[in-house]
Amino acid sequence: MPSCRPLRAGWGSRMDQHTVLTGIGISGGIGIGRVVVLPEFDFDTSKQKADPEEASRFLNAVAALSAAIGQKQETAGAEQAEILESHMMLLGDPSISAEAQRIIEAENCNSEYAVDQVFETYAALFLASGDELFAARAADLRDIKNNLLLILDGKALFDVESLPPGSVLVAREVTTTVAAGINPDNVCALVTREGGATSHTAIIARSLGLPGVAGVSRIEAGSQVIVDGNRGKVILNPTSKVLETYRGLQEEQKARKQTLEAYRGLESVTTDGKSMVLFANIGLVTDIAHAVAADAEGIGLFRTEFLYMNRSTAPSEEEQFTAYKQVATAFAEKPVIVRTLDVGGDKEIAYLGIEKEENPFLGWRAIRFCLERQGLFHTQLRAILRASAFGRVKIMLPMISCASELKRAKALIEEVKRELSAGGILLNQQIEVGIMIETPAAVLMVDYFAQEADFFSIGTNDLTQYIMAVDRGNQNVAQLCSVYQPAMLRAIYQVAQAANRHGIECGICGEAGADPLLTRFFIGCGVHELSMTSNAILGIRERVRSGRYEVAKERVAAGIHTLRDVEQAAAFLQSI
Ligand code: PEP
Ligand code: MG
Repeated sequence: MPSCRPLRAGWGSRMDQHTVLTGIGISGGIGIGRVVVLPEFDFDTSKQKADPEEASRFLNAVAALSAAIGQKQETAGAEQAEILESHMMLLGDPSISAEAQRIIEAENCNSEYAVDQVFETYAALFLASGDELFAARAADLRDIKNNLLLILDGKALFDVESLPPGSVLVAREVTTTVAAGINPDNVCALVTREGGATSHTAIIARSLGLPGVAGVSRIEAGSQVIVDGNRGKVILNPTSKVLETYRGLQEEQKARKQTLEAYRGLESVTTDGKSMVLFANIGLVTDIAHAVAADAEGIGLFRTEFLYMNRSTAPSEEEQFTAYKQVATAFAEKPVIVRTLDVGGDKEIAYLGIEKEENPFLGWRAIRFCLERQGLFHTQLRAILRASAFGRVKIMLPMISCASELKRAKALIEEVKRELSAGGILLNQQIEVGIMIETPAAVLMVDYFAQEADFFSIGTNDLTQYIMAVDRGNQNVAQLCSVYQPAMLRAIYQVAQAANRHGIECGICGEAGADPLLTRFFIGCGVHELSMTSNAILGIRERVRSGRYEVAKERVAAGIHTLRDVEQAAAFLQSI
C-alpha cells in the first residue's frame, strides 16, 4: 500500500521539511512542476425527475459550452481549430440538441440523463456507419458529452490540451482519451491513484515518455512536486536543496538522452555481428509517431485492448481495420505484431460483461475469453487480416496455456481467411500466427508449441506473476515479482533455446525487454527480438552494440543452472 510519511529533508536545515509520498514507479525519469488535478468523469447520469427549469438548465449548459469553445477558437492553432470547429458544429447540430430537449420534455427527466442518452446513441451510430470520418467524430461527441456533464454538475471545464508548461497531471487513472490530449511539452509527469508497474496507465506514461508514479493520493492542486519515476516517489513542497539535487539529476538524464542520439539509424548488432531486432510496444494509434521517432525496427506488441477501452461499445471492424492499417502502413516492410484482445486480469472493460471474479488473473481473460466470445473475436480477426494486405502484419495470441486453445484460434483464423477471400478481400494468406509465452504451462509445453506456432514472444510481466505465483499489482509481494528470479531466467532460457531448436523466432515483449541489465542475457539465450517502450530503444541498442554474442552465449550456458537467488542472479547478469 502507498504510504504518506513526512520526512525531514536529508540535505536541509532542521526547519526544512517536505513530504515524500511513496508509490510505484511506473515510468522512469524525473519531473518537476505544479500539480493539476484531473476531474473524475464519473457522472451520475441515471434518470431523475426534471427540475422545474430543466429545459433552460440544458440550454444554459449548451450556451456555456459554446461560449467556452468560441473563446478557445480565438487562440487555437490550425490543428486544434479544426477539432474545435467540429465540436461547435456537433454541439449546434439541431437534431442532437433538439433530441435532448425532446427527451427532457417527453420523459420529464434530468438533463444529465438526456445528454447521456443522445450523445451515446449518436456516438454508437457514427461508429457503426463504417465511415472513417464519422467514426472519428464519435470521440468528439463523447468529449462534448463529458463537458456538458461537467457544466451541469457546476464544475469548471478541464482542457488537458492547454495545460500550462510544467504541469504534473494527477488523476485517478490516465485513460486513453486523456492520454490522446496530453501535450508532453507542457505535462512533465503523471501521478495516479490506481495502477501498478505493468498496468495500462503505466504503459501510457511510458509511451508518452513521461515520468510516472502510481498508487499515490492526496495531492492538492497547485502544490509544487518532484515526481521521481525511477524510485516511485513524489516529493511534495521540496526544499531548495532537494530541488537543486533533482535538477542536477534531470540535467544528467538530458545529457544521457543526447548521447544516445548517436545510436539513431545504427544497426542493433553485437560486436561479433549477431543482430537483435528492437521493436516498440504500442497501445494507441498515437503511439505510432513515438515509435517511428524512436527508431523502432517494427512493432513487437500492439496491445489492441486499448482500442476497446474508455467507451461503451466494442470498436467496429471498420474502426479496428483503420487502426491496424495505419500501423501496418506506417511501418511498411517492417513487422507489426498485433496481439488479439487481452482483456480480463487488470484490464476491465465494463461493456464486455465479464463478471467480477475471485481471481481475475487466473480467470476468464485473453484467449480464454475470445474463444468463448467468437463474434467479438471474429470481428477483430477480420480487421487484422484485412490490414495484413497493407504491411507485414503478424497475429499474436495472448495467454496460451494448452494445445486446444492454439488449435481453435488457428482454425478460426483459417475460417476468417476463407470468408474474406470468398468476398474478394485482399489479405496475406501466409500471415504468421505466433503465441505469447506467459504461462508456466506454455513453458513446460514449449517444444510442442514451437512446432505449432510461427513465433514466440515471452510476456515477462505475466510469466513472472504466474511462475512466482505473485499478483503483479500487489505491493506486498513485489519483492518476489522479479524477472531476476532464477526460475524466471531459466524459463526464458528454455523457451529461447526451444525456439532456436525448432527454427522459429523468439522475442520478449514484457517490461524486461527495456532493462539493460538483461540485454546481454537475452542475447546469450538466443532471443531474436526485444520489444519495449519506444523511449528505451536507443539505450538498449547501445547495450546490444557493446557486447559479444559468443561471450554472452557461453556465460549464459555456464551460469544459468547455478543460480539460487535474485542477488546471485543480479551479479550473474552483471557479469555477462
Ligand atoms: C506481458 O504479460 O509481459 C505482456 C507483454 O502483456 P501485458 O503486460 O499486456 O499483460
Ligand atoms: Mg500479458
